[in-house]
Amino acid sequence: MTELAQVPVTALKGVGEALAEKLARVGLENLQDVLFHLPLRYQDRTRITPIGALRPGQDAVVEGVVAGADVVMGRRRSLLVRLQDGSGTLSLRFFHFSQAQKDGLKRGTALRCYGEVRPGATGLEIYHPEYRAQQGDESAPVEQTLTPIYPTTEGLTQQRLRQLSEQALGRLGPHSLPDWLPAEMIAQYQLGPLAEALRTLHRPPPNTDLDALAEGQHWAQQRLVFEELLTHQLSLQRLRETLRAQRAPVLPPAQTLPARFIANLGFQPTGAQRRVGQEIAYDLSQPEPMLRLVQGDVGAGKTVVAALAALQALEAGYQVALMAPTEILAEQHFLNFSRWLAPLGIEVAWLAGKLKGKARAAALEQIAGGTPMVVGTHALFQDEVQFKRLALVIIDEQHRFGVQQRLALRNKGIDGRLSPHQLIMTATPIPRTLAMSAYADLDTSILDELPPGRTPVNTLVIADSRRLEVVERVRIACREGRQAYWVCTLIEESEELTCQAAETSYEELSAALGELRVGLIHGRMKPAEKAAVMDEFKQGNLQLLVATTVIEVGVDVPNASLMIIENPERLGLAQLHQLRGRVGRGSAASHCVLLYHAPLSQLGRERLAIMRETCDGFVIAEKDLELRGPGEMLGTRQTGLLQFKVADLMRDAELLPAVRDAAQELLARWPERVSPLLQRWLRHGQQYGQV
Ligand code: ADP
Ligand code: MG
Repeated sequence: MTELAQVPVTALKGVGEALAEKLARVGLENLQDVLFHLPLRYQDRTRITPIGALRPGQDAVVEGVVAGADVVMGRRRSLLVRLQDGSGTLSLRFFHFSQAQKDGLKRGTALRCYGEVRPGATGLEIYHPEYRAQQGDESAPVEQTLTPIYPTTEGLTQQRLRQLSEQALGRLGPHSLPDWLPAEMIAQYQLGPLAEALRTLHRPPPNTDLDALAEGQHWAQQRLVFEELLTHQLSLQRLRETLRAQRAPVLPPAQTLPARFIANLGFQPTGAQRRVGQEIAYDLSQPEPMLRLVQGDVGAGKTVVAALAALQALEAGYQVALMAPTEILAEQHFLNFSRWLAPLGIEVAWLAGKLKGKARAAALEQIAGGTPMVVGTHALFQDEVQFKRLALVIIDEQHRFGVQQRLALRNKGIDGRLSPHQLIMTATPIPRTLAMSAYADLDTSILDELPPGRTPVNTLVIADSRRLEVVERVRIACREGRQAYWVCTLIEESEELTCQAAETSYEELSAALGELRVGLIHGRMKPAEKAAVMDEFKQGNLQLLVATTVIEVGVDVPNASLMIIENPERLGLAQLHQLRGRVGRGSAASHCVLLYHAPLSQLGRERLAIMRETCDGFVIAEKDLELRGPGEMLGTRQTGLLQFKVADLMRDAELLPAVRDAAQELLARWPERVSPLLQRWLRHGQQYGQV
């Protein structure tokens, strides 16, 4: 029997060219794809519920006889059909209907319908049910299994997808769909057979535990989750091998520049900075590209580590590119590196999206001509940017920098032959279990020591009914020569509204604090305006900065020691931690006021309490994971790096250690099974090993 992976969808009944094209849009090209296209959820149409037993909110199949159908005028005109069985009466309501439809719903017609029961003007109602007139006296049989609802695209109906999966299931057998997991492994991890899992998920029997399915805890799901996570691990291993197989410039440890740099720095690197610096220095001296992630809490001093790495490449006569995710942050790095490198006689170039016309052309020319240190935003990675001798790329605060982007960096290397080394820095603490799966392709260094003399930020949780007191606090702090941030949080995902709120707060605070110099910064301002305001704040010319979360990453003004965050309940803990990290950078005791809007939910209270209790980014991340469950921590949905069909990295985190062991074992003992697994689970573009 042919393997289903080899059978195109056009082999199925009813699939022609046009349909095949639509199917390709959801990634279905062969019958194996069809089988791995799993339902998002299920409907239970396996039994008929008596009308008298219906509950609001329930999705139900109901049978009855039409007792009347009238057009009623209410707030919106609608067709109201009264349906009765022996146990009660239910209304079916149609806001859109044709005359023919109305005629077909005459009194005395026997109907079967399906839909969500809700409380309505006439008692329980179903809006726009699916329905069918019953033929004769005979009641048609109900569904034998739960009804799958598949992910789909325009023009592709659920009914069609069900027909296709039905046909594909008909061809399912041990030879047509090999189980690539060795029997030994299936037994060891108690996984259950593949074909059975697929059959169950496409057509769950009536007694299936719907809650378990909804939570992804059903054994059939867990079997596929395991296989998918395993495949993901294998793909990262492959990627790693691909990247390691590339060549990189060998950079001998720097002899003179680091000492001169440190002498000018005004402080000594911490033990952790030295240790991580050495880990990097070793990697850079190797002929394969470094792929290293430095995780260090907010304020741990990652920039100095980046500079030490850069010096090794610079001393060897190569170019270094430093990329930051926002212009504010990039500009700050540009200023720091300019200040640090000028005494060493090293030139620094600047490139960002806002740079246009002549200035841009000049920057591109500098970079192509070999200016040693280049700092900028994503603009650095555009095609038109040509480096002369790029040996090291440093990516700051960007743990979401995707696999594809990492691979593409090779094109920026030397003569398309030598890939640059890559150093990625992030303050977003990632719980260890997740890090191990998400970053299997990177080596990790942890900067686990804050520079000396820092006092932990004292965090207060205060209701906004006490706003005036808080404003007084700002006045006192600024009068004592300190600086403060006043942060306005995101409103319903609307940047527009958020900026307006910041403007309102700015007006209010300027009026209330007439003697202080107050600035405003938000995402709608032009980059040049933002930079100017930031600079004024840095210089100390502004005492209070009203800001949106644009200041979240990296902004470093050590004299700022007070931060007020309005509506902190709108933000995730990791984000609050990032924001709070903008203070506590100097030696003065710092404070952060979480000015919440009452009433807080139980969860909201717990979350703010965590912020009050700890400043440790890892503790906060673990708690966040615990409280929030599946979340945005890794930004997995946006990255394209981790697009799973059935797995959920948060929900299934506890499987990860076993998955990692299994991946090692499979690679060692059954390497020939790796490729078929990758082909089964990953879309073509995602097959990293082949890029
Ligand atoms: P982050 O890890 O959040 O990027 P930064 O690199 O911005 O942290 O450093 C935060 C602040 O700490 C900066 O003002 C920096 O100059 C200072 N700093 C870094 N390392 C040390 C050190 N070893 N001793 C004292 N201050 C340091
Ligand atoms: Mg930083």
